[in-house]
This record gives sequence, C-alpha cells and structure tokens, in this order.
Amino acid sequence: MLNIINHLLVVIKWQSQVIMYLCFMVFGKGFKPKVEKCVDKEYMKLTVDPLPIFGDPAIKQTPRYTELLEKYRLEHGKDLKPVQRRGGKVPPDDAVCPYCGAPSDYVYDNTGGRGSYLCKVCDFTFSIREPSKDDEPYCPFCYHKLLHYKERKSFDVYRCYNENCPYRVKKLSGMSAKQKALFKKSPHDFKIRYSYRKFRFSFTPLSKQNEYVPLVDLPRITASPHVLGLILTYHINYAIPLRKTAALMYDVHGVKISHQTIANYCNAVAPRIKPFIDHFKYELSESFCGDETYIKIGGVWNYIFFFFDAAKKIILSYRVQRERDWKSAALAINDVLVKVMAKFEEIP
Ligand SMILES: [Zn+2]
Ligand SMILES: [Zn+2]
Repeated sequence: MLNIINHLLVVIKWQSQVIMYLCFMVFGKGFKPKVEKCVDKEYMKLTVDPLPIFGDPAIKQTPRYTELLEKYRLEHGKDLKPVQRRGGKVPPDDAVCPYCGAPSDYVYDNTGGRGSYLCKVCDFTFSIREPSKDDEPYCPFCYHKLLHYKERKSFDVYRCYNENCPYRVKKLSGMSAKQKALFKKSPHDFKIRYSYRKFRFSFTPLSKQNEYVPLVDLPRITASPHVLGLILTYHINYAIPLRKTAALMYDVHGVKISHQTIANYCNAVAPRIKPFIDHFKYELSESFCGDETYIKIGGVWNYIFFFFDAAKKIILSYRVQRERDWKSAALAINDVLVKVMAKFEEIP
C-alpha cells in the first residue's frame, strides 16, 4: 500500500514538471506560475434591529396630564384653567385625551361636533369617533409611522421613510468612501433604512410529544437490549450502512437479523430519543454556526437546515424541509433556542 502511494507521488511530481515544461514552451521564459493566495474576505456581520413600537409612540411618551398641569403651574405661577365654553359645542364626557389622559374639561371641540378634539394640556388633536386601535408599527429610532413597502409570500415589509431618521443618518455616515461610491451606483444593495417584517404566521413552538407512530413497538421486539444497543452503535454512531450492519451482526456476533428489521428498530428508537436530545441540558458555548444545504430523499430534493455549537461541536438543528423558505429557517432557529433554553427548564 505504502509503495503505491510513494509511486503515485513520484508520478504526480513528474506530471507537474511536464506541465511546467509545456507552459514554458507555450508562454516563453517569462512564465511564472501564479501562487494561489488564500482569500480572506470579511463577512457582513449579523446585526439584529430592535422591534418597532406598536401603536402611536406619542401616546406612550406623553406625560400624564397631572404632571403637565404641575409643570405649567411651576412655569407660569398659576394653574392652567379648564376650557372656558362660550357657546359652541361642549365635548362629551368621554372625550378624554388619549395622549395625556386629560378629562373633557380640558378639551376643545375643534370641529363643531364632527369628532375632532384638541387637548389644551398637551396640544395633541385626537378623535373619539374611531377609538384608537392603532397597532401599526412605528420606527423605534425616530417614532415615524413605518410605511408598507412590500408584500411577500408570508410576510409584509415595512420601512421608515423619514430622511432624517437617526438609523439612516448613522448608516450613511458610517460608510467608507468605497462603500459610498458603491451606494451611489446601486443603492438597493444597501440597507440604510429601518425596516420591519410582519409575519403572517402564528408561531407555536413544537410540541415535545411526537405524533409519529413507529412500525415496531419497541418493548415487544425479539432482540435483546444488548443486541439493539449494538445495532444502534454500528448504524448510528459509526454510520455503517444497514446491509453492512446486518452482515456485521451475523459475522461478528452470530445474530441473524435483516437490514429491514434494523431500519425498523432505528425508526422506532428515533421518536423516543428525540425529546431527550432536544431537551437535554447541553453545556453550550456562545458561538453557533448554521447553514442550509440540500439532500435528495426518495428522488426529491429537500433542504437540511443545520445548526451546531461551533466550539463544543454539538448539533443543534438537523431539520429536513421540503421548502427553502423563511419558515423552515425560523423553525431551525427555534430548535437552537429550545436547546439554549433547556438549561433553564424545570425538571418535571
Ligand atoms: Zn392631552
Ligand atoms: Zn426612523
């Protein structure tokens, strides 16, 4: 064996010399073979933007009317009086300011009974005809309402279109000269505006109970626990194919078992083992890696979403999905989170 390797190395060396000689013949004496350099390009760092504010931020940020009245008294040396009504419409009792909570005594009827009111305490106008059901997203950086930008298959994209949004200003000023030139050429390659994706998918974490009913009832199998252990060790831990595992069981241990039975045993063990694997209290590091790739199952392409602990080499997600979409990715990330959170779970 060693002789063959030595012989092949000599052949490879000889071949490279022939190639060099031919290159000199073709390109002349000035030919210098290119030395291959390692490419060390920096990846874009993963950043997570804060969530938007749902509902008008002014409502959440305006101080209570009692505070504002006290402030007025300190600044002006007298109390802010309720609205003096000289004829005209009197706002109904429920015309309470949604911003500062001032009662209707401090509210002007702005439009003569058509439903728009002005608060004397905080200066906001409001309407009580349409009670505030505002759960629209607002930019957490500049408090402007986010505008609907795009509709995708399972989510909507909202964006902050305020030109002076601190998020946008910071992104623009943080660009290098090269990036700025690139940005002028193709602005769509850069994310400089705050954006938010509203998913149309109610995410319920996976149940710990598995609904899969295996073909074989494990407690009733004929093989002893020792034989089952050997089968799992060879086929799963050492990745020995089914037929070879069957041959090994017969040749080494004298146990006659078909490859199909081995497959059935493994399928019966998998759903029982899964909850232990998912909820085991792993000692994880803080570095996780993930990627997706494809795999052919029964002649059909599927996608594997694979995550693992980069330092401890523990597999965190091994999800196979038919679709390569955000939902599959979200479920895979959930697998990781379940394992990260497992150590905080109570033992039942
Ligand atoms: Zn008010
Ligand atoms: Zn903004």
